[in-house]
Order: sequence, then structure tokens, then C-alpha cells
Amino acid sequence: MLAPFTAGWQSTDLHPLVIEKSEGSYVYDINGKKYLDSLAGLWCTALGGNEPRLVAAATTQLNKLPFYHSFWNRTTKPSLDLAKELLETFTTTKMAKAFFTNSGSEANDTQVKLVWYYNNALGRPDKKKFIAREKSYHGSTLISASLSGLPALHQKFDLPAPFVLHTDCPHYWRYHLPGETEEEFSTRLANNLESLILKEGPETIAAFIAEPVMGAGGVIPPPATYFEKVQAVVKKYDILFIADEVICAFGRLGTMFGCDKYNIKPDLVSVAKALSSAYMPIGAVMVSPEVSDVIHSQSNKLGSFSHGFTYSGHPVSCAVAVEALKIYRERNIPEHVKQIAPKFQGGLKAFSASPIIGEIRGTGLILGTEFSDNKSPNDPFPPEWGVGAYFGAQCEKHGMLVRIAGDNIMMSPPLIITAEEVDELISIYGKALKATEERVNELKSK
Ligand code: PMP
Repeated sequence: MLAPFTAGWQSTDLHPLVIEKSEGSYVYDINGKKYLDSLAGLWCTALGGNEPRLVAAATTQLNKLPFYHSFWNRTTKPSLDLAKELLETFTTTKMAKAFFTNSGSEANDTQVKLVWYYNNALGRPDKKKFIAREKSYHGSTLISASLSGLPALHQKFDLPAPFVLHTDCPHYWRYHLPGETEEEFSTRLANNLESLILKEGPETIAAFIAEPVMGAGGVIPPPATYFEKVQAVVKKYDILFIADEVICAFGRLGTMFGCDKYNIKPDLVSVAKALSSAYMPIGAVMVSPEVSDVIHSQSNKLGSFSHGFTYSGHPVSCAVAVEALKIYRERNIPEHVKQIAPKFQGGLKAFSASPIIGEIRGTGLILGTEFSDNKSPNDPFPPEWGVGAYFGAQCEKHGMLVRIAGDNIMMSPPLIITAEEVDELISIYGKALKATEERVNELKSK
């Protein structure tokens, strides 16, 4: 197998960790070893590993109608039900329509086509460029990888596509100037965004895309007043705002959507992952009434919206997602996250004083740890020391899986995690950190 995001040599020379079974917040490998899944798969199994209602929803639908498509004005009941449920769940602003995809990447690709179609419908053929942020992650298809601001997704793939521009990453700890407050930092970034728009010509910029909390780029919550300020800039130049809620939606931050937490009023929203708690692959795009109306009213001029996937609105995925949304509401999962977040955040941030930790950051049930020397973003450990990888291996040894990206460690446990499991997570983190500190001391003394 050619494994995703795995170096070629790794898949042949190293034995992969093979996961066989899941139960609540835990997964088990083929040797029966149990791990606390601190990343919820890939930030996605919000309801944990064995939610019977989701299994029942899939089984019932598989027995009734395993597949029918949604092309040419044909569709299935689960896809109609999900569109209704999803639009009702998003209450930050009113959204008019939902379009289904198989993944977050396809959702963001769809966003680009929707925005281009919209601007073509409005007779603005030059308004086609997208602005994303450095260190963002929006997917790995050609267009969503172009939107992403991570060099590894571009190098050797001839990306990004030329219509994508990147603006500053809002990471205060790493990028603020000496003496600059969070608010001042946000103002500077909003000013830089405005300068970029003016330099390119506002008539050429179609949309701005942002994750409420940046995930794969290292878990970066926005600095104070950031979204207020960038939204004002984007609005001023008639640029659409796309909220990439693929990680943040459905309670991760202690609110149903990331947009609720940061008062983001988007024109378009991408969701995936927790939409079905990852039990079936599905993503979606939600479209505001304004954008939807233009597309609808102009469709006789531009023809049908000729875009879609065989599995857009797959009935089994939709049936599972409808059930997941019901569970989020019935069990008030965002409130559970809000209640448990202080324990999770507080317990882990208590390790911030460690001499090998530069910053621990996060909110709700998402958290990033960045290792660095001297508490400084400018003093990374030598990459050959493999500090992050060592920490990750220690976690694994003690029965916990984390996401490792260089010296960044990321965690986003299932949203159903209990207080006892949070205690266990913190305890394993502590043991792994102690071992990593000892390792760094050893390496320094050599
Ligand atoms: N957007 C964000 C914010 C993501 O975190 C991800 C996946 N990690 C994607 C888009 C892409 O989703 P997928 O892997 O389902 O294509």
C-alpha cells in the first residue's frame, strides 16, 4: 500500500501500526494493545469508536437502499433529511442550501467552483482569486492543497495553483513583534490582508478562506479581535468569506460551530469529519441565501451547475450523518465539551513551564504543543534530535496516540471523552514529557 502522508520508505521498511478495533475514546491494535485516541482518528470520530445508533443508522439504510445518486433532480430521502438537519443546525447565520461531497477536500474544491460560478453569473469574470493563510490546511486534492498554506503540500507537486494567494498566519506567539499586543497583532494582519487585496486589485479577489481554529498547521486559535478585523476587510471589498469548519464543527470548540465561537458570519461553510463522526465518508458545503439566489437565478444563462460526485449525498453516509447531528443536539455535545474543556486545557497547559515546551495552545477539545528551546519560537531543536517524534513514541509506549508534525504535537480527543479519560490523557502526556525532557538533556550534554 502506498500510504497517505507517509514517506515511501516508511511504508516498506517500517511496520505500520495496524488498528483493529475501537471502543469509546480508545482504539486497539492487532496485538490487542489499547490506546487512548487523543486525535479522535484524524480529528473526526467525535462520538468515539462504537456508537450503536450510528451503526444502526448505517445498517438500516444499507438494508433499505444502499445507493442511489443525486444527479439530475433525482435524490434520496436521507440526503434531503441531512440537508434540512444540517441547515437547521447551523444557526450563526442563515444558510440556504447544502451540497454533499465525500470529504473535506472535495468540499473546499466545490467552494472554489461555486465561487467562480457565482462570479461568472454576476458578470465578474476577473474576480477569481482566493486568499488563504500560511499554515492553513484545507485538503490534499489539487485545489484544496493549493488553498492550504503548508509547504509540504506544495513542494514537488507544482502547487499552489496560480489563483491562490496566501496571507499571514495568525499565530501570535510565533509572529508578534516585540511589545505588540494580540489586538495590535490582529490589526497588523488585517492591514496586511488589505494591502494584499489592494495590490492584486479587489476586482480580482473572489474569496477568503479560513479555519476558525487552524488545525493541522499546529492548532492555532485566532488572536483577540482577529476575525472581527479580517471580516471587516473582506466585506469592504466584496469578497466572500468561506469558513472551513472541517475540524471545528459540531462541538469541538465548545460551540456547535467555530463560527459561533468567533462570531464569524460566513457566506459559505465547509464541513466533513464529525458530520458523520467519521463512520461514513461525507462532507458538505453550505451556501448563503445571497450566493444561492444568484446561482439559482442565473442558471438559465449559465446552464446547470455541472459539478458533483457519484457519491454526493450517498444515502448511507447521509443516514449516519442525520443520526450524528441528532446525537450532538440530544446529548448537547457542545455543552459537554464546554464543561470538560477547562480540565483538558488546564491540565495540559500546566506543563507549559517545561523547559522544552515553547507554547501549549488550544481551546475546547483541541490542543497543540510546540517544543522549542529557551521558550522561544526562534530556537527550534535540531530536527535530527526528533524531539516531537520521541514524545509521540513515548505516548504510544504508554498507551496514547497523538498527532506528530515535526516538533508540533496535536490532540483533539473524541468529544465524548470523560473526566477520567482526560485524567489518563494528562497522566500519559506527563510521563512522555518527562522522558522527552531527559532525552533532550542527554542530547544537550553530548
Ligand atoms: N479542511 C480542514 C480544516 C481539515 O482539517 C481537513 C482534513 N484534516 C480538510 C479540510 C480535508 O478533509 P479531508 O481529509 O476529508 O479531505
